Amino acid sequence: MRLWFIPLIYSLLSSPVWAWSDHASLLWPLVRTQPELLSPSLEVESLDAFLQAEASGLAELLNSHEAMSRATLSHYASRPEGLAFSADADDLRDAFLRAIRVNPELAYPLYRQSTVEDPAVPPLKAQRFDDLSFLDGGVSHDSIVYIALESGEHVAPAHVLASGSDEPDFGMDIGLFADNDTEFGAGYGFGDQPFGNPNLEYSSQAPFHMGFYHLDWVTRKAQPDLLRTYPEWRVSLFRALSRFAFETGHDYWGWRFAGWGLHYIGDLTQPYHAHPLPGVGTMKGIWTVLRGKTVDAIQLVSNRHGVLESYQYQRVQKALEEKSWDNIILAAVARGEPVPEFNERTVRDELTKESVDAGKDLDLALVVDMPPRYVSDPAFEWNGSGEEAAIVVTVASDRGEIAIETLDAVIAEQMLRFSRFAQAWINDAKQAWSADS
Ligand SMILES: [Zn+2]
Repeated sequence: MRLWFIPLIYSLLSSPVWAWSDHASLLWPLVRTQPELLSPSLEVESLDAFLQAEASGLAELLNSHEAMSRATLSHYASRPEGLAFSADADDLRDAFLRAIRVNPELAYPLYRQSTVEDPAVPPLKAQRFDDLSFLDGGVSHDSIVYIALESGEHVAPAHVLASGSDEPDFGMDIGLFADNDTEFGAGYGFGDQPFGNPNLEYSSQAPFHMGFYHLDWVTRKAQPDLLRTYPEWRVSLFRALSRFAFETGHDYWGWRFAGWGLHYIGDLTQPYHAHPLPGVGTMKGIWTVLRGKTVDAIQLVSNRHGVLESYQYQRVQKALEEKSWDNIILAAVARGEPVPEFNERTVRDELTKESVDAGKDLDLALVVDMPPRYVSDPAFEWNGSGEEAAIVVTVASDRGEIAIETLDAVIAEQMLRFSRFAQAWINDAKQAWSADS
């Protein structure tokens, strides 16, 4: 069985791992209709000010969260004792970022992403992805305009939440493993990167943005490294931080941490982020190995993953630019029902289970309605093919307008799941917010 996975481990993540690109824009149709989230009720506060005000409470909170994680999360990588947050640290910010084990080299500045409903951003306040991240923004991020914020000004929860929900793709989870050749990764306690090629820029965030919680027993036995994924822990940690910030009256950070947690929830609604090979059952996998077709199968899954994200991004972007709020995909984002109650088991027991279950049909739909070269030709490499931007035109000319209709409906189905779990998370944050304001 190892034969099946060795190439997988290296090729699965040789490409950018965004899941849904531009989480902030994707969330907008859902939050734009919730009036309590739209008024500029939050006073912007720097991370340093928050940490200085609440250092001792935070130390306690992080210690109890660590104890809880060790006791309840399977395959959790314990935080080394030396990284425990201390209110006496000389550099509170650095100590905090290392205690929560994110990339400590990012600035975590005050900003928000502009939306299609914002007036033009004044040039002096406008920022680009380059100002916020060391990563290459690519098709989805280079065109976004961000707005610099200052301490003391007021901002709406919807903007803080939406912007925060894209932030984990800015490099927060890059370089955290021992073999990532970073000084902090060497001491974070996550061990060597469990899968993905450690030499590629984006791949080291994958084990934090993909959660393989429902692998069959053969895969678990054959490839236990696939069990070392951490989005469930990230969600739980950022939920605890969000609640703490609300409780202590730092509502801006309450919503920003809620945004960070929401990122991982969004990623996990994407079936290719909840299972390494959606649509490939255990028996089919074994048969594929026996026929010597392993590398081909992995290339196809990798291409389908990329094609799905590019198509979804293009369709969402076009609908947003046209402000077509009744477009089938945007309407699905705005209207997921029924909304579950969020708790500490939701990610594992409900969200990722539903995503895994949706994988097979989704994979099949891509095979039927996408151009065969994109999804059924193992000699083709989607990533870097340069075809991302024109994917919708190609689908229409290759498969006809009817394929666009079908694919939009398939994407909308995924968006309903995104919407239900995002709203569950938002309701949970609203509760914590109103309990303390
Ligand atoms: Zn992500």
